[in-house]
Amino acid sequence: MPRILIIYTGGTIGMIENPVTHALQPFDFSHLIDNVPKIKKLDYEIDNLQFDPPIDSSNMNTCHWRDIAVAIEQNYDAYDGFVVLHGTDTMAYTASALSFMLENLTKPVIITGSQLPIGEVRTDGEENLITALQVAAALDKDGSPMVQEVAILFDNSLWRGNRATKMSADNFNAFRSYNYPPLARVGLGIDFHRDALFRSPSHRPLKVRHNMDPAVMFLELNPGMTPQTLHHLLTTPGIKGIVLKTYGAGNSPSEKWFIDEIRAACERGIVILNVTQCVNGGVRGTLYETGNSLTAAGAVSGHDITSEAAITKLMYLFGLDLQPETVKQYLNCSLCGEVTL
Ligand code: ASP
Repeated sequence: MPRILIIYTGGTIGMIENPVTHALQPFDFSHLIDNVPKIKKLDYEIDNLQFDPPIDSSNMNTCHWRDIAVAIEQNYDAYDGFVVLHGTDTMAYTASALSFMLENLTKPVIITGSQLPIGEVRTDGEENLITALQVAAALDKDGSPMVQEVAILFDNSLWRGNRATKMSADNFNAFRSYNYPPLARVGLGIDFHRDALFRSPSHRPLKVRHNMDPAVMFLELNPGMTPQTLHHLLTTPGIKGIVLKTYGAGNSPSEKWFIDEIRAACERGIVILNVTQCVNGGVRGTLYETGNSLTAAGAVSGHDITSEAAITKLMYLFGLDLQPETVKQYLNCSLCGEVTL
């Protein structure tokens, strides 16, 4: 009988309406599970842990990621798989963060939630939860776990966690991975795409990195950005890493004031990771002059990495206390399938 641990962090899936304000707010796990009687039909041993209190995922921070990672670490040997119930708003960030924090992972960590609360008649939560449990319990022919990575199960698809993005605030089909194929499609059965599944090259035991350094930020370019704005952001006190969201294939203004500011920041030891504002495709530094000058100034190419994976990868690498030059080297490696090189 598969043993699965559900870690309930909050999110719409478990929310109920506040009778006074009519706003949705997180509620406890027993309410959630009472609304999924079908769960008893699964021949699984299921235990649960819950965040106290459960939270809207807009309140998620690095300490919550550590709590989830520690819960998995402490229960790793006792369970075959883990299902994390989470709000959709920052689900792709948590999935990316956990993919880096859980080094040498060889068991499934399946994150899911829903767009409508589980108590609603048309909820997508019941389907998502049941399917996530089945994915977490799925075995390959040799008896090893089919999924050995952090993945997001939503609607009818399973996505690699550090490749996924929330793309809709309205649709049940809320997540997508624009630069990587789905790990599985859910129809009458669950059709796993074996070639897309990650297998850790290391045979070492699970190593959980607890420390994520929050001294990072996004800087999104817009036409008309002034030298003052750019200077102000690049000189943010304490900042160590910046995900620079550029145009198209990784292009930025090539004017002298702009490149000089970027170069000065790199020379101060700030790591600047160039990612595209486009949802599909990636940075190709040598395609245009405007992209070349950014590389020459010291920015590192993020290739086709998602924004969510880019910012959490910087947090993880700085959390390891690495020097900027070493951080840059790791940004050019795929650590757990987050980037195509
Ligand atoms: N605000 C909610 C959250 O992220 C949205 C959701 O769960 O869909 O917690």
